[in-house]
Amino acid sequence: MIPDVNADRLWQSIIDMAEIGPIPGNGNCRMALTPEDTAARALFLRWCQPLGLRHEQDAIGNMFLRRAGTDAAVPAVAFGSHLDTVPTGGRFDGTAGVLAGLEVLRALEDAGLRTKAPLELVNWMNEEGSRFHPAMMGSRVAAGALSLDAALAVTDNAGISVAHALAESGQAGPLSPMPRDWTAWLELHIEQGPVMEETSTDIGIVTGTMHARYFNLTIVGEPSHVGTTAIGRRRDSLAAAAAVILAVEQIALTAEPDGRASATWIENTPNARGNVAHITRLHCDVRHNEAARSVAMEASLRQALSEITARRQVHIDIDPYATFGPILFDAGLGALLRRKANDRQLTTRDMTAAAGHDSVFVAPLCPSAMLFVPSVAGITHNPAEYSTKEQVARGAQVMLDAVLDLAG
Ligand SMILES: [Zn+2]
Repeated sequence: MIPDVNADRLWQSIIDMAEIGPIPGNGNCRMALTPEDTAARALFLRWCQPLGLRHEQDAIGNMFLRRAGTDAAVPAVAFGSHLDTVPTGGRFDGTAGVLAGLEVLRALEDAGLRTKAPLELVNWMNEEGSRFHPAMMGSRVAAGALSLDAALAVTDNAGISVAHALAESGQAGPLSPMPRDWTAWLELHIEQGPVMEETSTDIGIVTGTMHARYFNLTIVGEPSHVGTTAIGRRRDSLAAAAAVILAVEQIALTAEPDGRASATWIENTPNARGNVAHITRLHCDVRHNEAARSVAMEASLRQALSEITARRQVHIDIDPYATFGPILFDAGLGALLRRKANDRQLTTRDMTAAAGHDSVFVAPLCPSAMLFVPSVAGITHNPAEYSTKEQVARGAQVMLDAVLDLAG
């Protein structure tokens, strides 16, 4: 007999967790390794205590809670997410995944069921990256994609290092961060978009991530006087940047609904009221569900930049400093989640993750999959972020059913 998750208990845990680091409008601020994040971790451990889990923690602050299986020789089935939030966060991003994992373990404990494989519930450190860059820091370090030393040296706006924050909060564990003995990894997360609600989907089967390409642009013109220089004689880097921003928006409009493009950051020199600007730095990115399409979006961007360069007599230096994805999640695990959802008469839909998640860094290490539950009105990273009790419970149930299948 496969046990049911306790929807009320899971919901109450989400409500109780949200009391730590509350902000107006039912939101949460629990940035990584702050006193609020530390309190959330302590509450999480307190909830794990009656379940007889083995608690391990690594040097970057990732938490691993292991429920023993009947066969110690079998590698673990792992699941979880993150308890940290952005400064104006909601109650569900990350937290729903950790607490759904906790509910899986609680339901098994209630039912007196022990799996063959051990189960491991994870709270990754600093998924959001709001206080310390880069995001997904804990999973990134555990996967070997960022060295522990480099991560420890990162500082926040106040100059406090990750190393210092870990020590001060007591969250630096004795283990060295490394891939663990997992046969499978599952992460439940809120969708953070409106598609599931619009299509009446209960469970999103996340097949992979978008492919993103990031650019630092430096637009160089010529300094001149705003009063005495006729428009036709100017080489105005800020006006050129405006043209670039609109070109990026046009590329985005053309790529919808499966693509996105954004110009997000600008720095202007000399940024003085009486001067035509001559150096403007701009950050932008293009992304698409299909890698080939994001490459084509980059080509459109470069085409637009060369036209702007010629028309406005500026030089544009393009630094394509980073790319991301596409990560493809394990098709077999996706099929398992789909089957388990269908067995419960739940509707599913294959989806691509547009945001970063810890699972992106776990995916190269072991078969991995994500499942989404709906976000009401698609609102996220906002105090109004909401999923219903039933929506979260359905996701937790599918996860429990899949975990039992995987762990025997
Ligand atoms: Zn998240």
